[in-house]
Amino acid sequence: MAEAVVIGGGIAGLAAAYDLHRAGWSVTVHEKSGRWGGKIHTSQVGDRQVDAGPDSMLARVDAARVLCEELGLADELIHPVAKIPALLFVDGSLHELPAKTVLGVPTDLNELSGVVSAAGLEAANADLVEPWHPLADGHDVSVGKVCRERLGDEITERLIDPLLGGINASHIDHLSLTTAAPQLANALAAEGSLIKGLSSLRSRMGATLGSGRPAPVFYGLPGGIARIIERLVEELAGADLRLNSHVRTLTQVAADGPKPDAIIIAAPAFAAAELVAAAVPDLSAELAAIEYASVAQVTLEVPRHAFDEVLDTSGILFPRVGGTLLTACTWFSSKWAHYQRPDAVLLRLTSGRYRDDRGQSLTDDELTEVLLGELRSALPVKSEPMARRVQRWPSSLPQYQPGHGARVQRIRAGAVEAGRGVGSGCRVEFVGAPYDGIGIPACISSGRRAAEAVMHS
Ligand SMILES: Cc1cc2nc3c(=O)[nH]c(=O)nc-3n(C[C@H](O)[C@H](O)[C@H](O)COP(=O)(O)OP(=O)(O)OC[C@H]3O[C@@H](n4cnc5c(N)ncnc54)[C@H](O)[C@@H]3O)c2cc1C
Repeated sequence: MAEAVVIGGGIAGLAAAYDLHRAGWSVTVHEKSGRWGGKIHTSQVGDRQVDAGPDSMLARVDAARVLCEELGLADELIHPVAKIPALLFVDGSLHELPAKTVLGVPTDLNELSGVVSAAGLEAANADLVEPWHPLADGHDVSVGKVCRERLGDEITERLIDPLLGGINASHIDHLSLTTAAPQLANALAAEGSLIKGLSSLRSRMGATLGSGRPAPVFYGLPGGIARIIERLVEELAGADLRLNSHVRTLTQVAADGPKPDAIIIAAPAFAAAELVAAAVPDLSAELAAIEYASVAQVTLEVPRHAFDEVLDTSGILFPRVGGTLLTACTWFSSKWAHYQRPDAVLLRLTSGRYRDDRGQSLTDDELTEVLLGELRSALPVKSEPMARRVQRWPSSLPQYQPGHGARVQRIRAGAVEAGRGVGSGCRVEFVGAPYDGIGIPACISSGRRAAEAVMHS
């Protein structure tokens, strides 16, 4: 029987293990912590279970839906119900995010009044008239550089950084155009303009379900996204699943049991760097060069009467230029039907982005006080929370900086040498958020592609 070792029990590692186990491989999964799922986690707020990490999965990429179908979870998938996708807190007041945007890039400049000044709007005309000089093959730049040049600073900082930067907990000036925002790169390549290219993309994405309803953008699961993890672990019955198992070197894995035919490294890049440090120092340096952002979140259950009005929105974004610690307030109980209660509102306040770790050094009480205070500057919250959960995610979101794609190629080339170090014929794969996209569907695909590759090597 072929032997596989998976290091890291997050979604990418478990997805890879699931396919290998089903194909008859002998699979061992090592997970450093005492629970499965990595960033995917559900925990208690008051008397209910609430997502503590991701709460939604992009529907446009099929991988999460397909896996949920295989795991018998397809009937449980739900979509956000809030009418307003997001609000922006700009110049001291709340504004609806313009409807016609892609990752914060507006495709209709007429929608921006109130959010952007007349001068800011004027600057965006450059995108419609200035020629775009395509990037040389293999070349990459920051999203901020391109957006500032073509659409101006205001639109970049007030719309694109909170949206695109927010998803990645990044800074738009340090985010790779080609790997973190390929839609923008493709729009420019196709039509020489972000506005025109993304407008065409919006029309193509506007495909409906046939009933006239727009196709859903996100999925959630009422029992929490961690339902997928529970089901994967159930499906892995019979495999060697080891919690509290911290793998320190690849050679340890080889010495620890039968020589594996494949090792799938599904741990964060900085942990992967340690695994190969002794055997392949250059590869380790490439892995260690992938920087991470940390986030800290406070989830609050607040009495309904604390609010004059319950906002019918998925959340509020707080642009970095506003200087707040608060980056976003997810309005859980308006976003998801299963979190709705007549007497309570469920909110999640998020802090932390690339090079802004202020939240990590605050105590739970201090963090709550600062974030709630900043929320109160956007709207009145007239009573204190009934329940609270503080969740910290240090070094949790890999940063795709310009040149990331080339770095991932070098890492994958280095994997061959790492495999040789373990023993002849051992294939090493790097999977998960640091390489192929940070979203859950991308991590699932990353794990499953690696499983496929090792089965056919
Ligand atoms: C707060 C937050 C909110 C998010 N929201 C969303 C969202 O709404 N939608 C979305 O699509 N994505 C979201 N993401 C991103 C997404 O959740 C992650 O990118 C994804 O879950 C990462 O999966 P992974 O398997 O690559 O890695 P991880 O989940 O990081 O799993 C890696 C595992 O490896 C283990 N490990 C590390 N070192 C070792 C070692 N030496 N030996 C053994 N085990 C080791 C770790 O303990 C961990 O369990 C969010 C992320 C965060 C932090």
